[in-house]
Amino acid sequence: MERVTIQEASHRLNVSRKTIRECIRDGELKAFREPGPRGDQWVVELPEDGWQDRHKKAYTDLAQNLPKWWWANESSKGHVHYIAELGIEEIHALYLCGFHSENIWSSTGHSEADRCPKCLEIATSQGLPIDAA
Ligand SMILES: [Zn+2]
Repeated sequence: MERVTIQEASHRLNVSRKTIRECIRDGELKAFREPGPRGDQWVVELPEDGWQDRHKKAYTDLAQNLPKWWWANESSKGHVHYIAELGIEEIHALYLCGFHSENIWSSTGHSEADRCPKCLEIATSQGLPIDAA
């Protein structure tokens, strides 16, 4: 079994470092302390392929169930944008129009006029669900 750092495991398994740590705590992943270049470090035993699929599915499900439109600022100014990608490691939202923000704010109660015209155009042309919750 290959042993890698938590960061490498996060990268290889395509889940956040937080998920890796939680899995270690739950005993779902095996972790060991090994001497590294800068002193002892935690290494994780890479699990079998099935593990990855299960957690990736959980993430995909989560992403699919998210609302599509978000405010890109706290004061709800400008337009609500259509989320294209949510960072895995931490929130770093990328919207369809290419705009991105460091955080997302709920757009509950926004009106159709609030929607970014460019996001709307792209979502429509790609046949994405516009009014999905
Ligand atoms: Zn937009």
